[in-house]
Amino acid sequence: MTPEPSQSPANPQSPPPGASEARFRKLIESNADGMLVVRPDGTIRYANPAATSLLNRSASELVGRFFGIPILAGETTEIDLPFRDGKVVVVEMRVVETEWEGEPALLASLRDISDRKILEEELRQKIAELAVADQRKDEFLAMLSHELRNPLAPILNAVHIMRLRGDDQVLRERMRDVVEQQVRCMARLVDDLLDVSRITRGKIQLRLEPVSVTSLVQRSIETVRPLLAAKMHELHVTLPDEPVRIWADPVRLEQVMNNLLNNAVKYTDKGGRIEVVAEVDGDDVTIRVKDDGIGIDREMQEAIFGLFTQVDHSLARSQGGLGIGLTLARNLVHMHNGSLVARSDGPGLGSEFLVKLPISKEEIKADVPLPSPPPPTPGASRRVLVVDDNLPSADSLSLIIKLWGHECRVAHSGPDALEEAAVFRPDVILLDIGAFSLRMQSVLSVALPLVKSLFSHLSRRMILDASLPKRQSK
Ligand code: ADP
Repeated sequence: MTPEPSQSPANPQSPPPGASEARFRKLIESNADGMLVVRPDGTIRYANPAATSLLNRSASELVGRFFGIPILAGETTEIDLPFRDGKVVVVEMRVVETEWEGEPALLASLRDISDRKILEEELRQKIAELAVADQRKDEFLAMLSHELRNPLAPILNAVHIMRLRGDDQVLRERMRDVVEQQVRCMARLVDDLLDVSRITRGKIQLRLEPVSVTSLVQRSIETVRPLLAAKMHELHVTLPDEPVRIWADPVRLEQVMNNLLNNAVKYTDKGGRIEVVAEVDGDDVTIRVKDDGIGIDREMQEAIFGLFTQVDHSLARSQGGLGIGLTLARNLVHMHNGSLVARSDGPGLGSEFLVKLPISKEEIKADVPLPSPPPPTPGASRRVLVVDDNLPSADSLSLIIKLWGHECRVAHSGPDALEEAAVFRPDVILLDIGAFSLRMQSVLSVALPLVKSLFSHLSRRMILDASLPKRQSK
């Protein structure tokens, strides 16, 4: 057994002149550090109990033997002591001159510092990891600024053009599309960032329901169709003959599929071939998204699922993005008890992403398509109260609502919202939950049953989405 290090100084001095050897022996006998008395020629003269247990030898085995390690008075050395069981004990040895039975000798104190060494090594590794994380964070911030800055130039240009040539309706329409597309890009980026932070804090909850694999794949494909067309990719889809259902959150799985399909489109040169295959594999269904694009180095095939990780080929880099999508996708698939892996034979040889999800046994009977959101009821004018402390956002939303033919009022603070609600009696309140204290939310939720139901059923984004026409919602 390794002795506990003593709290007393590990470095006993030579006995004071005239001190009896018996007293000196007693002192070192009870020391928690191993104590060896060694003759100048290296022969061990004495070993205290702590030394015998540290060296795993009895006193009789040690005394009379050569110590085997060169020792010099005044030195502090670290020694690795290998044991027969393969364990290595790291010992700190300090040596002082002493006298033993009237002869000059060396007194070596031995302290087991193995635990300290392990902690030091762990600390060194942590520091190295932190340095890498810090560098990654710096790179990420640079990339994020770049990605957020990118859409601003076309938006500003479009606004200038509309100001200069506002009377040209065709041009105005084109510029409006530019703004809309760029804002969508930014919104997707920010949504992904928010999702990542929610996932790492365990804040994402799945809304599970029976989901048809066929519908899931088809809906995802519809979302990326414009991108596929823009790059003139060929798409091949194979779906299971049998109805296959999984117990899943359709919104989140669509997010996964969209990411994989988007990537396949992005990382494949124009006119490529993209294949989507969904097939039953025992108790699971596997959805494969395969492309014949730039491919992925073998050593990066796992790393790309790490946060902010991108393969740095020039084509990959030139596609923008933040290296978040696959992290999110894998986390979401794991939350569904599934797996997501990448395969590629290497650069230039295309990539394949495999999503494996457990099939829902009870729900395998029917393959009912996913319900579409109900169409907006035309004609009915509602009283809508927009509550948001972000003035431009509240004012522009109110303008849209009025353009749709509804009555709309705006409140920029909690107390204003309560006051306005009492007078205006809105049918619908669009409340930016983040802007108000919990106390205010609960006051509003008690005062207005509709708000209460919004709180309990919808996320902040869904409430806002509910306010937008279908073509504007994500
Ligand atoms: P982003 O695409 O925004 O960079 P992702 O997390 O979706 O972020 O992907 C991480 C990286 O994985 C990409 O930057 C790219 O280098 C690589 N990658 C993803 N999908 C593919 C693919 N289909 N072909 C080649 N590389 C890919």
